[in-house]
Amino acid sequence: DDMPEKLQAAIRDVPDFPQPGILFKDITPILADPELLQASISEISATLPHQNIDKVVGIDARGFIFAPTIALQKGAGFVPVRKKGKLPWKTKSQSYSLEYGENVIEIHEDAVQPGDKVMLVDDLLATGGTAGAAVKLLKALGADVVCVSFLIELSALNGRDAIECDNIHSILQYS
Ligand code: 5GP
Repeated sequence: DDMPEKLQAAIRDVPDFPQPGILFKDITPILADPELLQASISEISATLPHQNIDKVVGIDARGFIFAPTIALQKGAGFVPVRKKGKLPWKTKSQSYSLEYGENVIEIHEDAVQPGDKVMLVDDLLATGGTAGAAVKLLKALGADVVCVSFLIELSALNGRDAIECDNIHSILQYS
């Protein structure tokens, strides 16, 4: 299976975005190619085979590209975790620290029910701050986070250590 290599070859490295010193992994060339778009979604979906789940949770904003299609494949619902101030109903919030300062993400209080089996999806794992905070929100609502999956993992940042889940997957790793 040479698909991971094809996906890797399509990722565009953009220096100094969104800030000087950051080398941004741009996934839009994957999304624009029908074969690679399909493959990226299938590969992420396949990290949780043969298991019934209730919800696939996507993280604002690039997690929203993958999570709803995976939810449809698995017969599950889609739930958004969003940046502060974007969700209209009653929310639960979780802050997490960045290199400078802090971010807040939110989920609707009724988006998952206690005992719901949930898969969390995002495009890229860096420090793990974002996904770690999302897992905290889901657990605070009583969900069972069965799997956390990413298209890309920046392995050297050890983001896995920030996520309270022992079933973490990525399709492409960079060191
Ligand atoms: P973390 O919280 O793990 O440090 O950062 C991961 C979050 O930031 C993800 O939601 C991801 O979309 C975004 N992110 C950080 N760096 C990159 C990057 O180089 N490329 C892309 N596509 N997303 C990034």
